[in-house]
Amino acid sequence: MARFFCEGCQKESNFLPIYTVTKIAGVSRSTIYYWLEHGWVHWLQLPSGRRVICEASLTRPAAAPSDLTPEASSPKKPPKAAHSAKNL
Ligand SMILES: [Zn+2]
Repeated sequence: MARFFCEGCQKESNFLPIYTVTKIAGVSRSTIYYWLEHGWVHWLQLPSGRRVICEASLTRPAAAPSDLTPEASSPKKPPKAAHSAKNL
């Protein structure tokens, strides 16, 4: 595909088009976009407007998301407190 300097890796890396990543990772395009938004993979936007994904960053989130990171972005639970106080 194409090699670019990856900010995430701090070195030159192989970048793949999203379509290719869907094939490799076996996920849908929307999943890829989700990864992009959450920064789970390294990516670049080409002058043409296409986004490409750092191959090196793919080895992690695709297979085992439970392994590292994503905890931080788990669904927010509203703090319970407010309504639990019953007037006596
Ligand atoms: Zn990278």
